[in-house]
Amino acid sequence: MKAVEQAAVIKHLNPIIRGWCNYQSPWHSKAAYRKVNNLLWNRLWRWAKRRHPNKGKKWIARKYFLLDSEGWRFATRREVENPLRLLRHSEFPASTEFIKIEGNRSPFDGDENYWSKRMGERYSTYDPQKARLLKRQKGKCPYCGLSFKPDDVVEKHHLESKSSGGNKADKNLVLLHLHCHDQVEALLRKQGNVVTEELKRNALIDSRKRGLSKGSRNLNKSGRSQAKATS
Ligand SMILES: [Zn+2]
Repeated sequence: MKAVEQAAVIKHLNPIIRGWCNYQSPWHSKAAYRKVNNLLWNRLWRWAKRRHPNKGKKWIARKYFLLDSEGWRFATRREVENPLRLLRHSEFPASTEFIKIEGNRSPFDGDENYWSKRMGERYSTYDPQKARLLKRQKGKCPYCGLSFKPDDVVEKHHLESKSSGGNKADKNLVLLHLHCHDQVEALLRKQGNVVTEELKRNALIDSRKRGLSKGSRNLNKSGRSQAKATS
């Protein structure tokens, strides 16, 4: 029964995602897609969690999400007849031209500043390092650029991986949404260091010592310069 309801959610959302992407694509950027993708993912995660308040992260992930090369995708289980998968915004072509989403808001969203402040307070009670990282990042995820909200599942990401000797110092960590973390891991496998340098800049870790220019301060600007270079 539950699986049928999930299928209904996917059937309802897929045409909306397709419509939004087709409508936006001539002028919207990949950065905007990431944001909307993330907002939607967080919503679905919360929906799944509310249905099973006593189950853990892993149990919920296995029940409602399938892991593929880009991370966890909302999908009915393979065993179900005619399995359904939620479309990803990244499956649609996007312009590299950057246009800012007004005031960091979206149709899915409430008051983000309010929530990110609340998050700092909440974290400081049980993980002082998370609170410090959150403060340094100004409450935002350096991958999608959105403010963290109280219900978001947040992961500490090692900039230099543990396997290559990275430690747990603040300087080597950034906080990411769980969903964004999956995407970062997938990107790291494909393009290596580029994404790490972007995260450092966006998480406001001082990168001047490494000789990075101000011109490459964020993805959006570099996206624009790429567009110029190729035209
Ligand atoms: Zn994020």
